[in-house]
Amino acid sequence: MKIELIGTGCTWTKRLSTSFIINDHIMLDCPQGSFKTMFNSGKLDKIDTVIISHYHSDHWADLHLFVEILKNRKVTRSTKIYAPDGFWEKFESVCNAFRLPKTLAYAQTHLSFNKLTNGKVFKSGNLNITAYTVKHIPDSFGFAISEGQKTIGFSCDTAMCENLVKIIKKSKAIFIDMAAIYPSDKHLSVNDVINLKKEFENVDFYPVHLSKFSIAAAKNKMRLPKDGDVFNF
Ligand SMILES: [Zn+2]
Repeated sequence: MKIELIGTGCTWTKRLSTSFIINDHIMLDCPQGSFKTMFNSGKLDKIDTVIISHYHSDHWADLHLFVEILKNRKVTRSTKIYAPDGFWEKFESVCNAFRLPKTLAYAQTHLSFNKLTNGKVFKSGNLNITAYTVKHIPDSFGFAISEGQKTIGFSCDTAMCENLVKIIKKSKAIFIDMAAIYPSDKHLSVNDVINLKKEFENVDFYPVHLSKFSIAAAKNKMRLPKDGDVFNF
């Protein structure tokens, strides 16, 4: 499985906000800045599936731009969107606020929306993707993505919770939220991740959604991925 890290930060850092391209055709989250980074790179042309983990702006704020470029390039195939409940209502509000009636019209005919449900598996290419609700805001999801017998986890934004442990137990490696430095009910802290690494020593941990504080606190304690890194599992 090829995983490209478009961004590795949270909002409050110079790093781009966290998002991933998986096997060149799945975009997991679409935060502000991700469109600008990928525009003209050729990467967007291959995306046929977009997964939105939750509706905070640093996870989906550039989606309208992605749809606009599909429209401008007259892409005729349909793009699958997997997102929490309420997608159309929110996407329509964004298009209306930004005066994008043509983008909305294109979306209505070329995006196929699928609601994420806890424990439900969906397929994309040769991957099986299981969505799990996690502890962040209502309707936030993490994922276990399997290619054959190999599973890679994505905590997305979460504090410690039962489903996070479920994802870790299935995974060979996990890209895990490490935004916080103090215990929190929204994000994992550096100490949370250090403790999970000790508990699940056979799993490789890749902390993401980093803040300048968590980057400083993790210094000399663990290796942190950078924007643009590509991993092959
Ligand atoms: Zn969030």
